[in-house]
Amino acid sequence: MKNKLLVVGTMAYDAIETPFGQVDKILGGAATYISLSASRFSLDCGIVSVVGEDFESQHLSLLKERGIDLSGVEIVAGGKTFFWSGKYHNDLNTRTTLDTQLNVLQDFNPKIPEHLKSPDIIMLGNLSPDVQLQALGQLKTKPKLVVLDTMNFWMEHFRPALGRVIEKVDVISINDEEARQLTGEYSLVKAADQIHKMGPKYVIIKKGEHGALLFHDNEIFCAPALPLEEVFDPTGAGDSFAGGFSGYLTQTGDISFDNMKSAIIYGSAMASFTVEKFGTKNLVDFSPTSMAERLKAFKELTTFEIEIE
Ligand code: AMP
Repeated sequence: MKNKLLVVGTMAYDAIETPFGQVDKILGGAATYISLSASRFSLDCGIVSVVGEDFESQHLSLLKERGIDLSGVEIVAGGKTFFWSGKYHNDLNTRTTLDTQLNVLQDFNPKIPEHLKSPDIIMLGNLSPDVQLQALGQLKTKPKLVVLDTMNFWMEHFRPALGRVIEKVDVISINDEEARQLTGEYSLVKAADQIHKMGPKYVIIKKGEHGALLFHDNEIFCAPALPLEEVFDPTGAGDSFAGGFSGYLTQTGDISFDNMKSAIIYGSAMASFTVEKFGTKNLVDFSPTSMAERLKAFKELTTFEIEIE
């Protein structure tokens, strides 16, 4: 029997503008990217989310074809799917959110189907902290690991509820700007220390094209991002990372710090595929051979011999 991953997060339509082009309506959402990324591993993956009647059947099929269990996805009759619009600046490291329309997410009460209530790992993707809490409350057994991804929107508007989720998770994955916003600390080491005190034993701080840091007790692991020739659209990089990280840990069933280091490399590789094309395209299309090549590139990038006297 395969290990089980439960993903909670948004399914969305996005409008994206980058220096290389623009799209008005493209499949997006945290749960979409996370599950597409995680489905690359040997595991059973289910989603809990909500969409409107406008959500196209071709997009449901895309996820189903990859073996993703959609029985926890509610389709609201007459409702409109969550919509997000963002614009990337020239360095592609910074983006401005132009619009967030919660739509069907506004009144969403998640209902986890019985057969998805005992996952090995739960990945709480970007979504309202109240929904994340409700989902956690419906689990029948305590998962091996609870992983949380969130963003500035929820920090600004839903801080008390977000605090209650953070208290309950083992791993939090956020970017450097968000870590600073959450703690008021500029130093990422101090920020991670503050976040440890809020609850999570493991803190991942993503730094875009500069890689990611994993903090646990007094240990720190530092992973690079792969220097890429083409970065087309960074949307979903964080979620693809989360899917790779939680997917690898679910497949292996090993949640040690050492295995988390490998999980971070898998997550970074997934993110590197996503950013090379618009939306989810490359995450769906890349070949297993290119994954092996990319992992090799990560290894070569970080291995060196040094003599210390
Ligand atoms: P990322 O680039 O990894 O941060 O994720 C981008 C995806 O997150 C997009 O596809 C959006 O639909 C989704 N998204 C944007 N804002 C939010 C939000 N406030 N809550 C949940 N998902 C969001």
